[in-house]
Amino acid sequence: MLSYQQARQTVIEKVGGAAGRPERELLALEQGLERVLAEELLADRDYPPFDRSLRDGYALQSGNSGPGAALRLIGELKAGDAPEVRVEPGTCVQIMTGAALPGGADAVVMIEHTRREGDLVRLDRAVAAGQHVVPRGSEQKAGNRVLPAGTRLGFAQLAAAAQVGCAKVPVYRKPRIAILSTGDEVVDFRSAPGPFEIRNSNSVSLAAQVSLAGGSPLPLGNARDRVGELRAKISEGLAAEALLLSGGVSMGKYDLVEPVLGELGAEFLFDAVAIRPGKPVVFGFCRGKPVFGLPGNPVSTMVTFELFVRPAIELLSGAVPGPLVLVPARLTAGLREKPGLAHFLPARAEWQQGLEVAPLPWQGSGDVVAMARANCLLVVPPDRERIEAGESVEILPRGL
Ligand code: AMP
Ligand code: MG
Repeated sequence: MLSYQQARQTVIEKVGGAAGRPERELLALEQGLERVLAEELLADRDYPPFDRSLRDGYALQSGNSGPGAALRLIGELKAGDAPEVRVEPGTCVQIMTGAALPGGADAVVMIEHTRREGDLVRLDRAVAAGQHVVPRGSEQKAGNRVLPAGTRLGFAQLAAAAQVGCAKVPVYRKPRIAILSTGDEVVDFRSAPGPFEIRNSNSVSLAAQVSLAGGSPLPLGNARDRVGELRAKISEGLAAEALLLSGGVSMGKYDLVEPVLGELGAEFLFDAVAIRPGKPVVFGFCRGKPVFGLPGNPVSTMVTFELFVRPAIELLSGAVPGPLVLVPARLTAGLREKPGLAHFLPARAEWQQGLEVAPLPWQGSGDVVAMARANCLLVVPPDRERIEAGESVEILPRGL
């Protein structure tokens, strides 16, 4: 059986190999948050566009400005001013943060390190060449690549795009990700369940996870555990860029997802991974589209999405899949798990002296509320049966 690292790598290789370039669209920059750049962005001019003062103080020639020197003040420059004045030996210009350095000057002395004596400025200390000046073009030269295609636009990337004058940003269209839950007992969450029916929470969590990963969820509702109904809805889902199914992938008599996918010509790359929850997770391609059969227990559905589906959606969005970031934390209460599988336990992490984590009480993979109270998953490696309080463990903080 594959480890979760191997299974994730399989998804990345296979979806990465199969994914074509998504279509593009042009959006107003304000609409670009979390979208993926379809073209590289270039610097339209040098950054900074002029030698820029980093401090409020005096612009001067460092070579003529030892400690105790008195310089004649010959002008003033604020941010936005054209520097028409020129600094000669023995003179200085008052300058504000963000202003362009005047000709002749090569350094700025902070106002705090000077004394004013009439129209003279006396220096307290030595001045180094280049001090408190950001030279023109030192951040970016005109024509440099500021952001490569495939970058996801967060707030800093949007600011960089704004800085270089990108009012309309070319991004990839979001991939449509079809979501189909399965199960005779599953009813729409808006309707009143019968005594033995269950509200469909997986379609809700999956749609949210798809959106967070950069996809556009296409909800197909629920299919009952009947071959004909599954076949019809799966075929419908294969019109999207990828299809996610929940439920129907275990060993029960009515777990029909794999056989129906097989009948539709699916090629499977795995149908089990050494994890709990989520062991019976299925990944393959059907009619050229990535298909995931996620186990129906809600925590299994969420965990298997984060481990395996998220990188696939990132690739289909034109982005580079982010790494699975595991963070070390100190376990506050000992735990015991069956060895052989990697366990992902709903847990809460908190910063005390360092990062500390405790698993939450839960009733297993159906316990949505435990998951809703968690802010991370605690990862128990497959070779650990017991972990004592105080030991270091890893947590997966993302997406929770
Ligand atoms: P399955 O994987 O189909 O064997 O389902 C495992 C468990 O998850 C069962 O207890 C189901 O009732 C439950 N389940 C399956 N699908 C959903 C869903 N869409 N929403 C909430 N619970 C579900
Ligand atoms: Mg089922």
